[in-house]
Amino acid sequence: MPEFVDHSPPGECIFCRIVHQELPAALVYEDALTLAFMDIGQVTPGHVLVATRRHAATLLELTPAEAAAVMQTAQRMAQAVQTAFAPAGITLLQANGAAGGQTVAHFHMHVVPRHADDGIKLSWPRK
Ligand code: C5P
Repeated sequence: MPEFVDHSPPGECIFCRIVHQELPAALVYEDALTLAFMDIGQVTPGHVLVATRRHAATLLELTPAEAAAVMQTAQRMAQAVQTAFAPAGITLLQANGAAGGQTVAHFHMHVVPRHADDGIKLSWPRK
């Protein structure tokens, strides 16, 4: 079972430190409510994370405006990834809580470029 890697208070978590430019990250987009940066552990080339600027652990803590902004940014990132990496498909993945597979307790959505037979196991478990 995955564990959160960061239990620090708001303002001190890994992604808060990226937001405040205290930790390096390959930032690719930012606006008033969200930012996007390259995942440090690229599942496939072009793997991007969309995070809220404000510390919110999970989807359940987002304001309606943040939830809308996250999806807008995810779409922008999907478009950018499509242009830059020409994937055959794109998977969005968003985990909440350790039991949901979340390891960093600051809201984020994965945008993962996909290719046929890339061997990545992100499919819905029914498959
Ligand atoms: O969905 P989950 O919480 O497991 O995703 C956390 C993601 O944060 C991982 O894919 C990990 O590679 C990424 N990460 C990062 N930069 C860090 C720490 C973690 O991109 N400094």
